Amino acid sequence: SLDITSALLERIEQDNVRFLRLQFTDLLGMPKNVAIPAKQAEKALTDGIGLDGSSIEGFARIEESDMVLKPDTSTYAILPWRPHENAVARFVCDVCKPNGKPFEGDPRYVLRKVMEDAAKDGYVFNTGPELEFFLFRMVDGRPTTQFQDGGGYFDLAPTDLAEDVRREIVLALTEMGFEIEASHHEVAESQHEIDFKYSDALTTADRVVTFKFATKTMALMRGLHASFMAKPIYGINGSGMHVNCSLAKDGKNAFYDADAPLQLSETCMHFIGGLLKHAPAITRVANPTVNSYKRLVPGYEAPCYICWSASNRSAQVRVPAPRGNSTRVEFRSPDPTCNPYLTFAAMLTAGMDGVRNRIEPPTDVHKNIFHMTAAERNQDGIPTLPGSLYDAHQALLADDLICKALGPHVVDALTTVANAEWDAFRTAVHPWELDRYLAMY
Ligand code: ADP
Ligand code: MG
Ligand code: MG
Ligand code: MG
Ligand code: MG
Repeated sequence: SLDITSALLERIEQDNVRFLRLQFTDLLGMPKNVAIPAKQAEKALTDGIGLDGSSIEGFARIEESDMVLKPDTSTYAILPWRPHENAVARFVCDVCKPNGKPFEGDPRYVLRKVMEDAAKDGYVFNTGPELEFFLFRMVDGRPTTQFQDGGGYFDLAPTDLAEDVRREIVLALTEMGFEIEASHHEVAESQHEIDFKYSDALTTADRVVTFKFATKTMALMRGLHASFMAKPIYGINGSGMHVNCSLAKDGKNAFYDADAPLQLSETCMHFIGGLLKHAPAITRVANPTVNSYKRLVPGYEAPCYICWSASNRSAQVRVPAPRGNSTRVEFRSPDPTCNPYLTFAAMLTAGMDGVRNRIEPPTDVHKNIFHMTAAERNQDGIPTLPGSLYDAHQALLADDLICKALGPHVVDALTTVANAEWDAFRTAVHPWELDRYLAMY
């Protein structure tokens, strides 16, 4: 590791780096960073850099607030939108206590712990997310919900600003080491999706956080607001973050079995069984805002019932057609407001429960679930996802396994956040209520 440190210090010098950003995330998955002059690099890489955790959401009480950021040396990347002379580089960091032990409130630690547990059985958890977002206009420096490419049918503008911005985002991410697989316009006006290649879940979670702030930064440089809010506009598709996932063992995809029904291994079937069993609790972290539940409604591409399907996109868990190394399970409920570390940790915990305890999933659903009546769903044993942040949080508290994986520090902090959010929402008087009742009564 001394070698790695001196090689990195050399690299930092060669790259003309003047500032280092030490990046980590709070409980809500918000990127935080501390900037230090490059002269401090050696100290940062050997001892870490001190941080007051008391002002970070979900971190610590005042009396135990001293934390240390320890850069993960594998995450060095130049921020491509900053000047190349006097460059800025970042490291993703682990958050530690002053005694050097990992801090239980660091979402990255929570995921790492669950992955280490799966590694005891020889498994690597791979995830590939599909991030959707809107590009909205800014007016007077504030984000709006006005479409950027809402010019309409007759607008044949020679350049589409949104296309340019998307291209710039893709270029910036590529410079930062992302392997972009696709980028395309989504169903709604002004809505876009960019997909990058899957990797182990920790690397992918780091990338999801980086993806969001890089996208926001590139959009802002063009005067646009990139929004990852789950359902910014009523009546129009919300933004999801489908998580494609698989287990690998001995370098091979453990979900693929050429001789099994549907060519899906027992491991894959049991993983699906575990995901569905714990789906209500996972929802609390995969859909963490009050607004997330406005997306999980019938009629769009977002799921609202707990079931799986090898074919149809109304199910929460879909198995896309590719097999062999691409065999994967697509978990369709998460949205991009989630903390990816906690979401992947909950998913892996659930899936491994299925694998270890051989949980059989219910039979798959072939029908379009949105066209089934409540009675039909009942008969087929298809439960409904939690309908609100409040319900989802209760489901988390009722799930001992997921709570244990997140750890008491994180569960307590999630409880504080859920209670505050839910109370604020529950007691507010919304425009809908005024429209509905003011004139009537
Ligand atoms: P969709 O068909 O749902 O639109 P996309 O093509 O947009 O799916 O995205 C597929 C995602 O799945 C990509 O991020 C890709 O890297 C990822 N993926 C492919 N193979 C695997 C695998 N074996 N394990 C996990 N993720 C995978
Ligand atoms: Mg896609
Ligand atoms: Mg696709
Ligand atoms: Mg999509
Ligand atoms: Mg998808």
